[in-house]
Amino acid sequence: MAVETPVAAPRPWQDYKSDLKPIWCAGCGDFGVLSALYKAMAICDLDPDNTVIVSGIGCSSRLPGFVQTYGFHGVHGRALPIATGIKTARPDLNVIAVGGDGDGYSIGAGHFPHMARRNLDVTYLIMNNNVYGLTKGQVSPTSMVPLVSLHKPVDSKRWKTTPYGMTEESINPIAQAIAWDVSFVARAFSYKPNALADLLVQAIKHKGFALIDAFSPCPTFNQDQTDDFYKEHTFDVPEDHDPTDQVKAFELALRQDSYPLGVIYRHDNKHSMLDELEALRPAQPVDSVLGVSALMAKMSA
Ligand code: SF4
Ligand code: MG
Repeated sequence: MAVETPVAAPRPWQDYKSDLKPIWCAGCGDFGVLSALYKAMAICDLDPDNTVIVSGIGCSSRLPGFVQTYGFHGVHGRALPIATGIKTARPDLNVIAVGGDGDGYSIGAGHFPHMARRNLDVTYLIMNNNVYGLTKGQVSPTSMVPLVSLHKPVDSKRWKTTPYGMTEESINPIAQAIAWDVSFVARAFSYKPNALADLLVQAIKHKGFALIDAFSPCPTFNQDQTDDFYKEHTFDVPEDHDPTDQVKAFELALRQDSYPLGVIYRHDNKHSMLDELEALRPAQPVDSVLGVSALMAKMSA
């Protein structure tokens, strides 16, 4: 992957910083993700008044509060349905959904393939730390016991939900996203914030549903997938990789020895549900068609 150092942004990244101070633990990978997001938003010159960041529940889902845009801190696993509602009601808004691996790939997993089918123009940024952090260290769908076992015998008994050891395989969200034909699929590492910012710029500019799965270490509850682990077990997507080739993208995504960083799959010009919705949208404001205001007035009288 040719990593571009982000070009000069039309507005300072500080424009996107809210007054709220992140309360993540020292060394949390989510700090790198947040700084990359500020940079990417500045490069894309996103108007804060026309941008919404949506999240579910988890440490990473606190992120909307730290960005000076509209935000929606939703309920567990429901970032994508909320993003869907916002984008279909107001297609002119920039919609970014964020969250963790537990939120997005466990309780929220059922929404994922349908978001891919609808291909709404939404960027989904997952901070993947391979653990549940907010609830203090349970295994998540991406916990990597099999891979870790390969490198060193791991005492997985210390994972709180698996006192006798974890026996489940971890899921491969990148391969799943390619199978569902998510129209932009990339992987990043939060300790490489410039590369992540570059991917975010591409994802935001991409017309359609875009997933970035960013490895984002949780030093408090995951001492296996550390920054050193990711440095050792990741590689840049080769320069000659064609992300529009779905089979080649699968080959990269299914690598067992190491994880590719960069754009792995892209389906350009994929149909979006919004194309039809625009044709169906009533010419009059919805309120005048349904009489919502009149109904509300009647109910509160
Ligand atoms: Fe980050 Fe882990 Fe602390 Fe949560 S528990 S803030 S994910 S380091
Ligand atoms: Mg997590």
